[in-house]
Amino acid sequence: MTPLQALIAKRIRREGPISLSDYMSLALLHPEHGYYVTRDPLGRRGDFVTAPEVSQMFGELIGLWCADYWNRMGQPTPFSLVELGPGRGSLMADALRAAAALPGFLDAKELVLVEASPALRHLQQDRLGRYQPQWLTSLSELKQQATLLIANEFFDALPVRQFTRREARWLENMVGLSECGDELCLVISREPARHTPLLDRLYPQAQDDDVAELPAAAISLVHEIALRLRPPRGSGAPVQGAALIIDYGYYPSQPCATLQAVRAHSHHDPLVAPGEADLTAHVNFEALLMAAAEADARTWGPLDQGAFLTALGIEQRAAALAAQASPAQRQAIDAAKHRLTDPGQMGVLFKAAALTATATPVPAGFTE
Ligand code: SAH
Repeated sequence: MTPLQALIAKRIRREGPISLSDYMSLALLHPEHGYYVTRDPLGRRGDFVTAPEVSQMFGELIGLWCADYWNRMGQPTPFSLVELGPGRGSLMADALRAAAALPGFLDAKELVLVEASPALRHLQQDRLGRYQPQWLTSLSELKQQATLLIANEFFDALPVRQFTRREARWLENMVGLSECGDELCLVISREPARHTPLLDRLYPQAQDDDVAELPAAAISLVHEIALRLRPPRGSGAPVQGAALIIDYGYYPSQPCATLQAVRAHSHHDPLVAPGEADLTAHVNFEALLMAAAEADARTWGPLDQGAFLTALGIEQRAAALAAQASPAQRQAIDAAKHRLTDPGQMGVLFKAAALTATATPVPAGFTE
């Protein structure tokens, strides 16, 4: 039993079953035993590999996306360049190297990293220290100024609640204790959930026994981002920025149970060994875009990652890198491009969506 499992079991014995979203928060971010707090989970020797760790091309193309949008906003100076959950800092390091091609960009940006993990903040300091980043734990501390925000594989780590449909009502799936001990198990609450209009809107076709997720934390974060992208009242400024969200997920919304645990590159039971495995849920892009539109942001996409990277020029970037590479390196560049864009790999499961202020240029890669 992990130390965190013992703490959770004790709490359940005291208070009764806890929501899956409370469980997920504890497993990922408990100040002493949380998964992200205690380690660097990324890379081949870690538990999973993300797109920026597959190839520098990913971050470079996102850097050019930012530079292009900053240019089209009229080069506001200064502006906040924000990354949510920067991991090892690889995406941002590659992005800044590429965006430096646009004169003025590096000097105008104020780099802001939103990171909960002390272990990963250290790595980010090593990679990005020379850009003088500021670390925040919440977006509410962000300055009111033009903002470009990037989030890759961040939203999947935000806690979700889960519900089961029974006799036309939603009952919440909770984490309780097995009858004979401290094993954690899923229990369905007997009382119907109280706040379900959003579930009904997201899943109007739900049938009895369907399981559906409510990305409550993601929805409030998207609201907060959308509010940031609005011009300050009376400023007359037409455009305040854009946010790019890339993650694995689904669109349109559909009832499904996607909470999963990954450890050493393989799946296992999310209720076993909390704190030792990465817990994530697929991102419900329709729920996020609906929340953004309600907060008066303009929404773009989602596009499949393969289509998005192709529109941004991954073929050309791969060809340029290959032109100066050894045969072995050429093979690696080609394999990475394939992994990022192929429909059987990350090309379709991963999606890109953007939010912008209402009166705004079209962000690169997306179409009206
Ligand atoms: N974007 C990186 C890392 C993805 S892993 C990449 O693509 O490689 C998820 C990242 O989000 C980690 O850096 C993790 O520590 C951070 N994170 C997860 N939940 C968080 C939260 N609630 N607040 C801030 N950071 C969080």
